[in-house]
Amino acid sequence: MKDFGLTEEQRLIRDTVKGLAKEHFYPGAAAADRQCKPPVDNLKVLAGHGFTGMFMPEDYGGAGLGLMENVLVVEQIARYCANTAMLFSCTDGATPRALLGVGTEEQKQRYLPRLVSGELLTAWSMSEPNAGSDVGNVQTRAVLDGDDYLINGSKLWCTAAQVSELFLVLVRLDSSPGMKGVGAMLVERDTPGFTVGKHLDLLGLRGTGMAELVFENCRVPKANLLLPAGRMRELLAVLDADRISGNPPVCLGIAQAAFENVVQHLKDRHQFGKPLADNQGLQWKLADMAIDIEAARALLYRAAARVDEGKPSIVDTSITKAYVNQMSVRVTNEAMQLAGAYGLSEEYPYERYFRDVRGMSIGYGTVEIHRSSIAREILSGRYEF
Ligand SMILES: Cc1cc2nc3c(=O)[nH]c(=O)nc-3n(C[C@H](O)[C@H](O)[C@H](O)COP(=O)(O)OP(=O)(O)OC[C@H]3O[C@@H](n4cnc5c(N)ncnc54)[C@H](O)[C@@H]3O)c2cc1C
Repeated sequence: MKDFGLTEEQRLIRDTVKGLAKEHFYPGAAAADRQCKPPVDNLKVLAGHGFTGMFMPEDYGGAGLGLMENVLVVEQIARYCANTAMLFSCTDGATPRALLGVGTEEQKQRYLPRLVSGELLTAWSMSEPNAGSDVGNVQTRAVLDGDDYLINGSKLWCTAAQVSELFLVLVRLDSSPGMKGVGAMLVERDTPGFTVGKHLDLLGLRGTGMAELVFENCRVPKANLLLPAGRMRELLAVLDADRISGNPPVCLGIAQAAFENVVQHLKDRHQFGKPLADNQGLQWKLADMAIDIEAARALLYRAAARVDEGKPSIVDTSITKAYVNQMSVRVTNEAMQLAGAYGLSEEYPYERYFRDVRGMSIGYGTVEIHRSSIAREILSGRYEF
């Protein structure tokens, strides 16, 4: 793996988390998937080593580090346990970033130190039966009633719902059309009228505790309003950094793992009296996979570095997410092919790698929606090559 001009501290962070993930997370990775069991104890290990809230300012107990460090950490965790990486990037991602970016000082003081210490796990919830790519169609409603909001509605596909204590929930606050009427509330798990509903089991990432959320006259204090209606663009801008650290490094780490495993397999397995790796046709496939992985890594590190330099770009985020997502599907699919029937067996990790990356082209904005965003920036002249 190349170092991309990483500082000594960044390399130390990367190598430390890699060691932890390999030793502590990899042994349970297959079971977390098979049993649909979120590996929450791994988050305690990460918190114990100071990896939660790394990007949080020191005033709130964090280390004040950048997006690059976040990306390096998530990539290495995903290389050894994708479910741990998803849980980590979820609890340590959208909600704390949103609190930091648009929360009141009182909300920050109330929640951020507990998020940094790893005591409080969080999830964020936008999706609904009729609101997926179309965020402006959120129908879960929050209505002011005295000093509280009453929330009614339901949510889908909430990653980490089963293990989280605090939820960032997008709600419709007034009748303004589309996104203009949407805002965000902070909902604690034990709030009366709020239920973490049915477990939702998708093709992959089965150990992320995904569930639906149900709100039935759920009464939330006014002080938990995170974002009033009319300011969704601010929240989406804050979450743009999370689109870089929360999704592509998971795909990159998994693709790297699939690649490493299959390289070893081709060296070890003999057919027609020689190692599979001696066939030039297969060597070229490995070379193409390496090209794909390194191109994705370069895009991802570039996007993170630009954010850390104070030059974030929506188009960088979308190009990165779309490319890394699709690279990971190509690479994990090819790894299954190269491993033959072993590639499809549950006894080996290849089929899990493929299943785990497949949904990442859908979560956090589909590849199609990101393509539309890239095209919009190009055609408007805002994107400079
Ligand atoms: C692994 C995973 C984790 C997730 N975690 C969370 C979470 O924690 N919280 C949360 O709120 N949600 C989560 N989601 C849900 C995710 O945000 C939505 O699935 C996503 O926004 C797409 O919405 P949809 O599934 O309703 O698809 P739709 O919006 O119905 O789209 C269906 C298809 O149509 C395409 N499409 C839609 N509109 C357009 C258009 N205008 N132009 C071109 N193509 C279009 C899409 O690209 C897609 O291929 C998760 C999803 C996955 C797979």
